[in-house]
Amino acid sequence: MNYDYLIVGAGLYGAVFAHEATKRGKKCLVVDKRNHIGGNIYTENIEGINVHRYGAHIFHTSNKKVWEYANKFTKFNDFENNVIAIYKGERYNLPFNLNTFEQLWGVKTAEEAKVIIEKQRVEAGITEPKNLEEQALFLVGRDVYEKLIKGYTEKQWGRDCKDLPSFIIKRLPLRFERNNNYFNDTYQGIAIGGYTQMIENMLKGIDVKLDVDFFNLKLNNDICAKNIVYTGMIDAYFDFCYGKLEYRTVRFENQLLDMEDYQGNAVINYTEREVPFTRIIEHKHFEFGKQPKTFISKEYPSEWTEGSEPYYPINNEKNNELFERYNWLAKQEKEVIFGGRLGSYKYFDMDKVIEVALQKIVEIFGE
Ligand code: UDP
Repeated sequence: MNYDYLIVGAGLYGAVFAHEATKRGKKCLVVDKRNHIGGNIYTENIEGINVHRYGAHIFHTSNKKVWEYANKFTKFNDFENNVIAIYKGERYNLPFNLNTFEQLWGVKTAEEAKVIIEKQRVEAGITEPKNLEEQALFLVGRDVYEKLIKGYTEKQWGRDCKDLPSFIIKRLPLRFERNNNYFNDTYQGIAIGGYTQMIENMLKGIDVKLDVDFFNLKLNNDICAKNIVYTGMIDAYFDFCYGKLEYRTVRFENQLLDMEDYQGNAVINYTEREVPFTRIIEHKHFEFGKQPKTFISKEYPSEWTEGSEPYYPINNEKNNELFERYNWLAKQEKEVIFGGRLGSYKYFDMDKVIEVALQKIVEIFGE
């Protein structure tokens, strides 16, 4: 037993935990089965562009403590996420705001937009939304739902909007002024120089071993610490004994293009069902890059299968119930802490991951 903590997964949760435990005099070993640190916030420099290899990550939070914490490890720029949606060649601003409503209906004022939405809401006849479709119709009416939500969501989640939880759509702000900021949070930005560097700074001076599969360590009785922090898939930890939780994965079709600019914006969503990908990310725009080339990624979501990377837990009723069974088992493992998006089976953003990791530290070590 050479270490106090074996931390499985060099993503954000693992790195924050390792950093804080080390600061408190604990000896930590971080292992990751991939050949790099950072988990899914890993960025790789390609032709001078920090490419978000596992999808776009924009740091945003309203939690001052979390913002200050993250700023200890990286500087953030003042990037604001202004997403454009394309539906059958028509362009719309996201999130849903007066610009979107003008593009849809030609309205110029909040009052006019509210009248249309209210009419569509009444027509939909929903009073207590029970799923994503009902929530969307209730919130923004049929036009926005049909053009900007339905197709995108069904591609993203591979499920009918009626079979998805309503909280997913509540991630997006609804506004009646002209504000194209995708997030409502007080603080927002991109880690200058990439998130890999931020994680590197968290892990400074800490032992890290890459290409190490925790389950092989376990199999070979090679667990060299008294306590484990496990940030992988919770169902995998228990050998899928109750069955498999569902996840979505994303396949990226990447292209390095010999041009300065491809789409003039970091994120463009393609919201119609018929376009097979959900969005195109042009990475240089996250850091306002002026490189001679550009790198783009088309995102094709699909159901997770063994061997691919899990990205999104699918927090519907069925999976949440199954998760609760695994979570009960997890609570019996007194020497193991389960954390991160996969260990908690929660659709966490980066700020939430930091928040819960710091809470766990306080729980263990005190303030
Ligand atoms: N969404 C949508 N249309 C869009 C963008 C998002 O209907 O153009 C819905 C979709 O269901 C998606 C959810 O809103 O899964 C959350 O979007 P977000 O951009 O937060 O997803 P992430 O960036 O985490 O993939």
